Amino acid sequence: MAEKRDYYQVLEVDRDASPDTIRQAYRRLAKKYHPDINNQPGAEDRFKEINEAYAVLSDEERRAAYDRFGHAGLEGMPFDFDGFGDIFEQFFGFGMGGPRRRRTPRRGANLGYELTLTFEEAAFGAEKEIEFNRQEICSRCKGSGSEPGTSPVRCRNCNGTGQIKQSTIFGTMVRTCPTCGGVGETISTPCHTCQGRRLERRNVQKAISIPAGVDDGTQIRVSGEGEPGTNGGPHGDLYVVIRVKPHRYFRRRDQDILLDLAINIAQATLGAQVAVPTLEGEEILTIPAGTQPGKVLRLKGMGVPYLKRNGRGDQLVLISVEIPTSLTAEQRKLLEQLAETLGTEVRPQERGFLDLLKDMFGGLID
Ligand code: ZN
Repeated sequence: MAEKRDYYQVLEVDRDASPDTIRQAYRRLAKKYHPDINNQPGAEDRFKEINEAYAVLSDEERRAAYDRFGHAGLEGMPFDFDGFGDIFEQFFGFGMGGPRRRRTPRRGANLGYELTLTFEEAAFGAEKEIEFNRQEICSRCKGSGSEPGTSPVRCRNCNGTGQIKQSTIFGTMVRTCPTCGGVGETISTPCHTCQGRRLERRNVQKAISIPAGVDDGTQIRVSGEGEPGTNGGPHGDLYVVIRVKPHRYFRRRDQDILLDLAINIAQATLGAQVAVPTLEGEEILTIPAGTQPGKVLRLKGMGVPYLKRNGRGDQLVLISVEIPTSLTAEQRKLLEQLAETLGTEVRPQERGFLDLLKDMFGGLID
């Protein structure tokens, strides 16, 4: 590559030229050397050079760096010099037409799907079949857009060139034909199924593997199962958003499972072995003697598997103590005997004690 020319020389302006003067010089030269207008050899290189010079001299910071250190002063300022054609477009409102711009591949749109699982499915994972609607290559025309048995015809607007000439204040400019999008052909008889759009909406069935440990709101990305791309671009992705149905007994707190359990005053006082439900059937839980209401007992490793690592959470059992509201004659007699031995002394609780208790289990009792 030849040595870079001085940007002021490129734009044919003095070193102390005002921003207005620089802008005017750029307008004049860009129009003169635009490759769609000027087909002399070297015009395109000159056009690029003009754009590059303008990109620097029209930017106060870049211009100052260039004034002090020349081209070397710009080395620490990354700039996409290939994108300079776009400056022209911003400046004049239209770009460089022709085949260079047509049929840019575009990625398809992402799709979302809400999948409702049972509590157990979310905990242990599941294989689910989902059905959703998305655009697919039209099955009738195989994506050509033409009714089978017919062929596209040469575009009348551009006469098959894919480009049209347009008169502007700068002279005649060439741009992509809006009728055929630069392809040079139009569909004579549109496909009866897709009306020439090449795509049709179809219901798609897909088997989805749900990993163990997902929770309400978890998103699972299924790569490449979104809408199809255009002009050979890739499909978008499908995002499966998990919803979890409430369970009869359990609540989730991350990977822990919460269970509320009411025991009677004798079990709380004397201790007991009780059967409690878990995700895998009943387990025996030991209630220690003297268990207070609000106590949290832990069944280790009986929670939900972690999504991204080994191990499981715990099942937390929140104890409440039921005060009997109706007693048999015998129960009443026994309790009265007990009451006599317990005496009449009461213990005022220090202020803040209940608040402290609430703080400790506030996250659990909701
Ligand atoms: Zn079709």
